[in-house]
Amino acid sequence: MKIPHDDVEYYIPTDVGQQVHINHTNCSAGTDTKGRLYIKRLPDCIVAYCHNCGGYYFKRSKMYPRNYDALQELLAGKEAAEAMQQTVNLPSDVSTNPADWPAAARAWLWKYYVTDDEIAQYGLCYSPSWGRLIIPVFNDVGKCVFWQGRAIESGGPKYISVKGAKKPLFYGGDSHKQKSATCCIIVEDALSAIAMSRQNDIVGIAALGTDFPVGEFDVNRWKNLIVWFDPDLPGRAKQQELVQRLTPLIDKRKTSFYAARNTLKEPKQYSPDNINKVFAHSNFTRI
Ligand SMILES: [Zn+2]
Repeated sequence: MKIPHDDVEYYIPTDVGQQVHINHTNCSAGTDTKGRLYIKRLPDCIVAYCHNCGGYYFKRSKMYPRNYDALQELLAGKEAAEAMQQTVNLPSDVSTNPADWPAAARAWLWKYYVTDDEIAQYGLCYSPSWGRLIIPVFNDVGKCVFWQGRAIESGGPKYISVKGAKKPLFYGGDSHKQKSATCCIIVEDALSAIAMSRQNDIVGIAALGTDFPVGEFDVNRWKNLIVWFDPDLPGRAKQQELVQRLTPLIDKRKTSFYAARNTLKEPKQYSPDNINKVFAHSNFTRI
């Protein structure tokens, strides 16, 4: 059975050899939530195969003959591919140089004390066609697995997310810090995670929203674990819900667990100088 072009087109990778795994929307075998539609760009064609419905797709360059070998190769690589994390492309027109961005994009980052070094460290960039600041998430080997676009010169929602990719967690700090720090603060957004990770021994982790994948997170890896969502009403409700879901998983001999008090602002709103005062005073409730 052939997969319609429309199901595939948006996700076709840009580089030869690159492969993406996306949820097959309109999959005839039912809802796909495991990224079972594999799309690969080969030197002479695009091939895709859905491990949910068994549908396939080809797009050949006119210069090349049919390449059924390519499909066979894709099928043979099924298991290895399943273990591999899906990658996504950033918008093709992104600029990583803040000097080229609209002033409003730079101003939005400066408002939250984000430095040029941090812009480079986290790969923050701007897409003129989207009119959005792009916040990428990279995997262990530096491949982009997700991005969010924050509205700057565009209408629509404050944040959008790349289509077809599973939402990961956004980790602040570098890989050394992520391994060595003993305190973890779970926050809503990437800039808050960056803000928390400026502090010694702290890694901020952003849920990129308020839904946190409790089952995939090692709570007892941390000596101190803090949940600090935004102080708006939905944020408070979601913080309380997350605390209730995490509490039974905490081994109290290993991990002390805290929740931010309602009097706190959003994590990213504190300057690197002021944040110390927040930690020095009892702004967190021990659970
Ligand atoms: Zn399918």
